[in-house]
Amino acid sequence: MLIEHILGARVAGHVVPQTLRLGGAHVAELLPPEAASGSPPAAPGASLDAAGHVLSPAFIDAHVHLDKALLLGVAEARGPLEPRLEAAILAVAALRDSVALEQIERNAERVLHRLVRHGVSAARAHVEVDPAVGTRLVELQIALAERWSERVALQLVAFPQRGLELPNMLDLMHAALALGVPVVGGCPYVDRDPRQHLDRVFQLAERYRAPIDLHLDFSDDPDRSLLGLVIERTLAHGLQGNVTIGHVTTLAAMAPDAQGRALDALAAADIALVVLPATDLYLAGAGEPGSRSLAPIERARAAGVRVAIANNNIHNPFSPFGNANLLAAAWLAGITRRAASPEARKGLLDAITHAPAQILGLGAHGPTPGAAAHLCLLDSEDPDQLALEAPAVIATLRAGQLVYRTRAPTLR
Ligand SMILES: [Zn+2]
Repeated sequence: MLIEHILGARVAGHVVPQTLRLGGAHVAELLPPEAASGSPPAAPGASLDAAGHVLSPAFIDAHVHLDKALLLGVAEARGPLEPRLEAAILAVAALRDSVALEQIERNAERVLHRLVRHGVSAARAHVEVDPAVGTRLVELQIALAERWSERVALQLVAFPQRGLELPNMLDLMHAALALGVPVVGGCPYVDRDPRQHLDRVFQLAERYRAPIDLHLDFSDDPDRSLLGLVIERTLAHGLQGNVTIGHVTTLAAMAPDAQGRALDALAAADIALVVLPATDLYLAGAGEPGSRSLAPIERARAAGVRVAIANNNIHNPFSPFGNANLLAAAWLAGITRRAASPEARKGLLDAITHAPAQILGLGAHGPTPGAAAHLCLLDSEDPDQLALEAPAVIATLRAGQLVYRTRAPTLR
């Protein structure tokens, strides 16, 4: 249903609830209550009564895996799972031959439903390109992206989870990109020669004129950091603004001065950072007492790095915890980083709205005149508290269309 008016919504930056007039896929204007009361909504059914709840820009998930989501039970049935990156990679790879594509597709759709229910209007999905399945997961997700385009925009990444050294992998990456996948993924830490892996990824990016999104530095050992190699190649290829790196838990383990230098270098090369709390906290920082294995979001932002917070894996050996709830990911990151100040929690919200939109190359969206009407209505009365409360989503709009509305009563 195309919404024409949203009545009585609390919007950041406005003291009193606003009425929004939408003009198709965009927000036309915001009216204060007294101005809005004289012009009742035109058609019945075309208005959404916000009843004083917060209206936020819809959330954007900069990094999610649909093709290995909800596999925790299947993996557990094969034996106990260990909270280690290598063990998780092996556990999921072992399922590739046995879990039917129909099951993968059903699980992916279940996650897409959850994303929409959690207020997400666009997501970048890393699609496994693997010798065991060739490009079948790519084809499957291109079809899914088409089928779901009115509810959530999917941007696919060709992702070599088991590296580029296995037989036929480079051909498969070419095939995936030739099928129209717009982003080159990479995972240099799984290969014997990470330097060569990076060279290949940057060559693919140049050949297909595609941005790069790397899984990088998922380790507690700063000496294993590949940041320098990535920065060097980003500058050499002139790809500033087109490279994104996910995880980078090494940043959390660096001494403060080394961390500061690394963040400055990332900002100078305009490389975006995506923090994945549900996985980073589960698989890294192991041992006792362990560490807070999450890249320093607020310091990165202060250094000028674009930072997103994203879901990554959903309910599988990489991330048993989580339910595709991006606001909960920001909430978890906030607690872990003790990022509770007004400035820090603004940063947490930016990391699930505007920063990821920019990483995906999307235009402006949110409750602002002229912006795309990708919006979500939340069970909260204070726009400044969202990252602290992680409230439930009441409704999600994409391009002015109501794509989700809760049936549950809202809390007061
Ligand atoms: Zn990932």
